[in-house]
Amino acid sequence: MTSIPLHWQILAGMLLGAAAGLMLSATVSQRQSSLPEERLPAGVRAVEFFDSTNRIEIRQVARDDSVRRWVVDPTGREPQSFTSLESLRQVEPQRFEDFQRYGRSWARWLGDGSRRLGGLFLRMLQMVAVPLIVTSLVTGVLGLDRVEQLGHMFVGTLTYFILTTLLAILVGLLMVNLIQPGIHGGQQIVHDGEATSTAANLAETLLTQLEAMIPTNPFAALAEGHFLSIISFSLLFGIFTLLVGGRSVEVLRPFFEAALAVLMSMTMAIIRLCPLGVLFLMLYVTATQGWEVFRSLAWYMTTVLAALGVHALVVLPAIVWFVARRSPGKFARAMSPALLTAFSSASSNSALPLTLANAQQRAGISHRVGSFVLPLGATINMDGTAIYQAVAVVYIGQLHHGFSLPLSQQIIVLFTTLLASIGTAGIPHAGLVMMVIILQSVGLPIELQGLILAVDRVLDMCRTSINVWSDACGCAVIERFQPVKLPSTAQP
Ligand code: ASP
Repeated sequence: MTSIPLHWQILAGMLLGAAAGLMLSATVSQRQSSLPEERLPAGVRAVEFFDSTNRIEIRQVARDDSVRRWVVDPTGREPQSFTSLESLRQVEPQRFEDFQRYGRSWARWLGDGSRRLGGLFLRMLQMVAVPLIVTSLVTGVLGLDRVEQLGHMFVGTLTYFILTTLLAILVGLLMVNLIQPGIHGGQQIVHDGEATSTAANLAETLLTQLEAMIPTNPFAALAEGHFLSIISFSLLFGIFTLLVGGRSVEVLRPFFEAALAVLMSMTMAIIRLCPLGVLFLMLYVTATQGWEVFRSLAWYMTTVLAALGVHALVVLPAIVWFVARRSPGKFARAMSPALLTAFSSASSNSALPLTLANAQQRAGISHRVGSFVLPLGATINMDGTAIYQAVAVVYIGQLHHGFSLPLSQQIIVLFTTLLASIGTAGIPHAGLVMMVIILQSVGLPIELQGLILAVDRVLDMCRTSINVWSDACGCAVIERFQPVKLPSTAQP
């Protein structure tokens, strides 16, 4: 097993997990059952559960034969239904508990179990993420000859992040206007929704981000895993250590270097479990996802995937080729364990330890560049998310108005999406939450988000791997413009 390259092992894990999940979903995803008599509430004759991946129904028959129903329908087509089990859990915790215990199909039961097992792998990655960011950033800064070098790298990185995110949004807007999924995809929902102003919300979000860069208590930020706070404090700590110089540098540099070596070795050990972790995560998604919903949202999904594809396979590789002067294929292969983990975990933060390790040990990126660009990228550079948000908002606009948003509104979408994507955290579904700001900026009712909720996990997986891919390409670009050739730990 160890002689097979890691990326092939991970790919095999992914495919195996997906195949097993699909098989479960095709064979044992239907179940009809009932609550045992001793668990029935007073006045109730029977509680029945009907589970299938596309729909869940709970029926409660009272002694006077009146019936109450709770339905989970991810397509959102059934009136007064819940669109996810999570929303059922929040509103009807007892119903949810009973369903989990007595109503789940085998596919759902095994899928939930796999999520817990795959979660163990993600927990390990999260365990090393915060100490890795701190030691990596501090050693990166302490490795600089002069503090001004950091300034150049900062400006270059930020320019790359903003330009590629804008390009990503433009690709998304182009696709959604060409394909027009909300018009060709049928089921228009033309409302007279209230236009709400969002200037306050957007400013609020940006201000919150700015505030997060100045943690009032860095230890609390470390404990709670606030990436932006941790990054800014670590950078400042490194910068001021350099400015103080002398004994501070003599003591702190070897300390942080030693700690980083230990954490890197822990990360490498965790990476060996990656194929297994990815297998369980894929099994969970494919066993519990209803496929019916994909048909109703096929046009929308095609548009998001096409835009993601153009950005990942044309725009970013062109930047790697022409600007960073590297072979995009080789670079992608070197980064593939991180990209595949981002795909199956739907979280840039969880993939970050792998992204750091792959960039330095497989792609030949210097520690100085990798340790600076990647943690910052995982936190604020979200090309995939930006594409998804722009397409989704214009799609919702098409459903709502019956035509595409006018140019002036699409320009608002362009800039609001740039800011919203910067504010999106590197965790699952965060992009969906931040989309509210963009919807409001063009006066679209936020409830229409419910229509795209059901396919969010799958699109999240795809957009997260593009987020990480763009961070990695950023490393290659910044590396190219480093004044001197920096040492790397790349294996031949
Ligand atoms: N899951 C994405 C990420 O971690 C964020 C998003 O929801 O778009 O990068």
